[in-house]
Amino acid sequence: MPDFNSFNFAGHKVLVRVDFNVPLDANFNITDDTRMRAAVPTIQKIRKDGGSVILMSHLGRPKTGPEDKFSLHHLIPHLSKLLGCQVKFADDCIGEPAVSASSSLKPGDVLLLENLRFHPEETKGTEGFAKQLSSLGDVYVNDAFGTAHRAHASTAVIAQFYPADRKMFGLLMDVEIKNANKVLHQAEKPFTAILGGAKVSDKILIIENLMDRVQYLIIGGGMTYTFLKAQGKEIGASLCEEDKLDVAKEILEKAAKKNMQILLPVDSVIADKFAADAQTKLVDNDQIPSGWMGLDIGEKAIAEFSKVILASKTILWNGPMGVFEMKPFQKGTKSIAEAVAQATKAGAFSLVGGGDSVAAINQFGMEKEVSYVSTGGGAMLEYFEGKELPGIAAINQ
Ligand code: AMP
Repeated sequence: MPDFNSFNFAGHKVLVRVDFNVPLDANFNITDDTRMRAAVPTIQKIRKDGGSVILMSHLGRPKTGPEDKFSLHHLIPHLSKLLGCQVKFADDCIGEPAVSASSSLKPGDVLLLENLRFHPEETKGTEGFAKQLSSLGDVYVNDAFGTAHRAHASTAVIAQFYPADRKMFGLLMDVEIKNANKVLHQAEKPFTAILGGAKVSDKILIIENLMDRVQYLIIGGGMTYTFLKAQGKEIGASLCEEDKLDVAKEILEKAAKKNMQILLPVDSVIADKFAADAQTKLVDNDQIPSGWMGLDIGEKAIAEFSKVILASKTILWNGPMGVFEMKPFQKGTKSIAEAVAQATKAGAFSLVGGGDSVAAINQFGMEKEVSYVSTGGGAMLEYFEGKELPGIAAINQ
């Protein structure tokens, strides 16, 4: 595979798969443009070399074909501003509109194709559709880490229509993979993984894959309580996945036999209802009264977790420690973010990934205080589960 930075794109028409699946408000204003900004260096390098850029992406989950609310034309003004040039638009990603728009591109031009998912063939991974897309450009660049775990036409199937020296990762994809590999395969010890979020069921595979790699596995968030119940504790009305109690027990038993430690919070901020105006109390986790629910980790847990984090050299964080969207249950997640930031300042490598931990770190304005914030939610999770991502495999083959 050619190295993106060393490739000279002069005179090439470069088909770039980006992940512009950004949130829009009711007036089609982009409420978070992180994913668009993340693709800018790749686009600008191609333009600077004298290549032309054809961007393709999905937006949302259109069901039966074109729908204005999922049209990528809403992104044109903002993208043009980010790139400093007027971005052209083709109102279909294949067929006449795409072919004529791409054939009239000049060096330095940027064309955005309409939403790939207006064609069901995209998610089905249909070869004929992928081939039509591939006819638009003579070089294929995949820079969509956020969709790398999908075997879709534009993310994986398309790669077979390009020779090995004409397909490669873009700069974003490259840095995502390098940082993930650094954590997964070259982690300096002690390596601590912090896993939070709502459900154990979403995190079983990542826990199992990380158990052989980390020295400490910190567990917080809603999934704490399934583990506590598996240990025989009363958890009141806290979140619990009854059908995962056995798995939680097995994980704890396995950990006891390995050279690593699972840390569960010893206390919680509990509430009498799932609401920002609930009554709250700070209690040890063997003192949760019936009818009350744990919605954040407590002070003792913050202190214990922070100590471990501050002594770590590699930190992976996925999932919030509590219901950080509500102010009374924010402190746990914020304190852990502060500990990760402090450890980073002291020389640790910290990677934060997964939708909600990224949202939390952005909400606290601390995204610059960690080593790397991944743009891939599901993709990042699957990578750390040890799976081969189709978007990566297709280019490596
Ligand atoms: P996930 O998508 O699995 O990473 O879960 C993120 C969600 O888990 C966030 O919306 C949090 O509000 C929620 N969450 C975190 N801690 C708890 C808790 N103790 N009880 C219920 N939900 C929680």
